[in-house]
Amino acid sequence: MNDFYFKLAHTAIGQNIFQTLNLPQPVLLNRSPDESISMPVGSYLIGASSNSFALNNTLSALKKNSHIDLLNQNKTLYQSLPKSFSGSDAINEINILQGKKYDGAIFDATGIKDFESLNGVYQFFHDAIAKLSTNGRIIIIIKAPTVSSEYQTDALQLSLHGFCKSLAKELGKKGICCNILSLPKGAQKYIESSLAFFLSPKSAFVTGQAVTLRNQTTKQVPLSPEKPLTGKTALVTGAAQGIGRETAITLARDGANVICLDIPQNKKLLDSLTLQIGGHALAINLLDDTAMQDIISAISDTFNGLDIVIHNAGITRDKTLRKMPQHLWDQVLKLNFERVVKMNQVLLEKGLFNENARIVCISSISGIAGNFGQTNYACSKAGVAAYVEAFSESTALKKCNGLTINAIAPGFIETQMTKNIPLLTREVGRRMNALSQGGLPLDIAEAACFFANPSAHSLNGNILRVCGLSLLGR
Ligand code: NAD
Repeated sequence: MNDFYFKLAHTAIGQNIFQTLNLPQPVLLNRSPDESISMPVGSYLIGASSNSFALNNTLSALKKNSHIDLLNQNKTLYQSLPKSFSGSDAINEINILQGKKYDGAIFDATGIKDFESLNGVYQFFHDAIAKLSTNGRIIIIIKAPTVSSEYQTDALQLSLHGFCKSLAKELGKKGICCNILSLPKGAQKYIESSLAFFLSPKSAFVTGQAVTLRNQTTKQVPLSPEKPLTGKTALVTGAAQGIGRETAITLARDGANVICLDIPQNKKLLDSLTLQIGGHALAINLLDDTAMQDIISAISDTFNGLDIVIHNAGITRDKTLRKMPQHLWDQVLKLNFERVVKMNQVLLEKGLFNENARIVCISSISGIAGNFGQTNYACSKAGVAAYVEAFSESTALKKCNGLTINAIAPGFIETQMTKNIPLLTREVGRRMNALSQGGLPLDIAEAACFFANPSAHSLNGNILRVCGLSLLGR
């Protein structure tokens, strides 16, 4: 990463300058590139509103590896928090815990139905945040909106999105990430893999975000302690460099056999990558008329279907709309959007998705927020995100046993694509988020591996921003 500001902030002299000028000092984020996702070992503060339904599953998932302090003075653990917290015993309890630092705080808010119990969120985090260590994690579990007759409950639950984003902005300077798990009643049994991801260093650049778990009939698949993608075949497009390359490496780390696709001009880069990770190189230009047929032939001839497809290849061709020639519009829309839809369609038609396959599309926060000079790019990336949401509900998807589709919307990530941005714009892009720094390709790769994990089968139709809570967008 060539981020001079970040490097300076981590020198003794730089620290003095930054403090004197009151400049934001991006914290060094903790990442764990060598390990597959697992429930982190740690010490956690847990709270819950009364009648919450995810606490038992949360505790049993965590207890395997962690020490838990329930921020609740009552011995019956699942009492209404607001009342327990206003008691002097509770304050004593908190005082005893004073001084100890925790790796995370989790609040199960699924039981909140009235304004009084919403206050429990304030009380819990008001006390808990001072006890969190640098690079700590906050998770708020909410009940996914259901039927219109529960509109007050839905509104109270959804209000926590604003709470979460604001807390993420307040705590970003300490590298603390704050995210929401949203689930309908019944889906709490699938919570383990999402908890593991959002508590671990794998989510170092994900903050102020939410994923929704779906309730389904499928049996829970526990997190594998070893390589979770062993025996899986993955296809990554745009794998020669940047995010695609890192994703291929990370999928291989997790045990997958990775087919790395990129343009023929990058064949050498593909070959050296596949030498490193033991995968297969596929030199195909996705914009060629024969591309789809070439992919189908390569997969049918050599592989036994696909378990994971990461649609990562993407380009920018920036110009204001008035100055944008037709071909720049065409290239961007075709590669970033049309090819993604088309490839899924032909893979489905040919029956090349295996049971429980995973599709991950790489969108962009530009698609969410829009960006000057990027009408083509933002249109393509918004299209991909909308397609993911629509396809996740489609009968075509349901016909394919266990297939899920999710999207990742990266913010500013340190790659060749962002190196090409003019210096000043680049510097603004890097700093304009809660963590005051750009993300790494690894951050996107870890999110892709999270969605690709067999235990993430209840995640479908999510658009996860990996952007350090960029100021751009919703
Ligand atoms: P990159 O330019 O470093 O890599 C893109 C890869 O796609 C290259 O290897 C390129 O050769 C390949 N590619 C381009 N055209 C192709 C084609 N016709 N056929 C096959 N492969 C082709 O980009 P990156 O930063 O790693 O971005 C990867 C994805 O993430 C893209 O979809 C991009 O839009 C998205 N994204 C990136 C950022 C960021 O900050 N870097 C932010 C948001 C979204």
